Amino acid sequence: MTQPKQFRASKGTRDILPPDSALWNWFEQTAREVFGTYGFGDIRTPIFEETQLFARSIGTDTDVVSKEMFTFQDPLAPEELVRKVVERGFDATKVHVAGGQAPKAIWDALSEFEWLTLRPEATASVCRAYIEHGMHVLPGNVKLYYVGPMFRRERPQKGRYRQFYQIGAEVLGQSDAPAIDAELLEMLMVFFKRVGLTRTTLYVNSIGDKNCRPQYVELLRHELLQVKDQLGPDSRRRIETNPLRVLDSKLPHEQAIIAKLPRISDHLCAECREHFARLKDELKLRGIAYEENWRLVRGLDYYTRTTFELIAEGLGSQNAVCGGGRYDGLIELLAGPPTKGIGFAIGSDRAILSIRESGDLPRLPGLDVFVAWMGLSTYAAAVAIARKLRESGVSVELPGEEMKFKKSLNLADKLGARYALIIGSDEVASGTFTLKRLADADQKKLSEYELLEYLESEKRGTRG
Ligand code: AMP
Repeated sequence: MTQPKQFRASKGTRDILPPDSALWNWFEQTAREVFGTYGFGDIRTPIFEETQLFARSIGTDTDVVSKEMFTFQDPLAPEELVRKVVERGFDATKVHVAGGQAPKAIWDALSEFEWLTLRPEATASVCRAYIEHGMHVLPGNVKLYYVGPMFRRERPQKGRYRQFYQIGAEVLGQSDAPAIDAELLEMLMVFFKRVGLTRTTLYVNSIGDKNCRPQYVELLRHELLQVKDQLGPDSRRRIETNPLRVLDSKLPHEQAIIAKLPRISDHLCAECREHFARLKDELKLRGIAYEENWRLVRGLDYYTRTTFELIAEGLGSQNAVCGGGRYDGLIELLAGPPTKGIGFAIGSDRAILSIRESGDLPRLPGLDVFVAWMGLSTYAAAVAIARKLRESGVSVELPGEEMKFKKSLNLADKLGARYALIIGSDEVASGTFTLKRLADADQKKLSEYELLEYLESEKRGTRG
């Protein structure tokens, strides 16, 4: 008989296992706490949306939409298909209901509705939800954050995956005051400090708005056409499709050419120039260090004015740990009311990689107590105390089968338990427990009350 196939996680995806997952939980929980202090609420949007939502908001000429989306057709149930066909004015008798087969013309007519995509980012979904739920009537700015997986069909490498995780935040409302941008950046820096990611550089730029950017893009296109022959194929293609993206190029031989191109900062309209100047003043007011980078245009179409990116040291080529910016026209583009917006997305995979490489890891909760019970007569006491300890938040491992004492302590050690709780017939007879600290074999006899008190207070960090 042939061996059955062994399965592995798909290309560019991976499992996050304990104890690693504890680091992830801590990272995400810290974000929730920090963002909560700035008045942000959690939003959970679907993992997939209509393909058109992403195409329209991110832009069809971007890498994300043109090459990287995981898109699939919704397999319609036959009766659903018939309903949709009739709704669209087709003759339902043309659909072979039994097989769910429809003539190609009908499928083509429906395809606009039936294509779905695993979300490559979440700003589009948040904006869709903002419009769908009429959130523009809510008082003040609407501040939302999300935590979850995103999907892009990329070539996997260190720090670049096909399923990766982002923590993002968005501020939507009527105001585009630079203070909103600055406060969002402050929150980001407070979070990065809390998780110990301090070897980072914040880059900021303004890419203008619909009044001044088109002229700049034309000027850039004109200048790029002059040097077209010296550019690589990607940049050459982008002269037509998206000239701003040429500024993103990492090709060594293009750097000197790009350095001589006109800079957006010299071509902003008065309003955009003022907005950017005030943003920089606000950042100074808040003591946030930043560098200006006129080449920071970001890859997605919906950005206006403020753009920013956070780069972490020591991550190699995939070193951007957060990116974001303003997207004042996006809600309208998605048929919503005139609304201003700004947001960012942190790449958790890379941020956690960077924290790990810095070696500055937090002390995360592990196994507190391994119950070493000996003799069947002690088992009931072991089950009872394990339950009580767990109820007071202590993490406990209770073997379900009797073990030799030595083997028990050995396993406790290997599992990384901090204590072994020894329960033998003596302990049961006297109503006490022996608590042994595994790091130094220090041992004490405690009553149930003392034991609970001791471990609980230690959990609260009041004892060594
Ligand atoms: P973007 O909006 O594309 O700049 O994405 C925001 C952040 O998400 C980036 O700065 C990265 O940290 C992270 N990110 C984007 N794509 C990937 C990927 N394929 N794998 C891991 N992280 C990613």
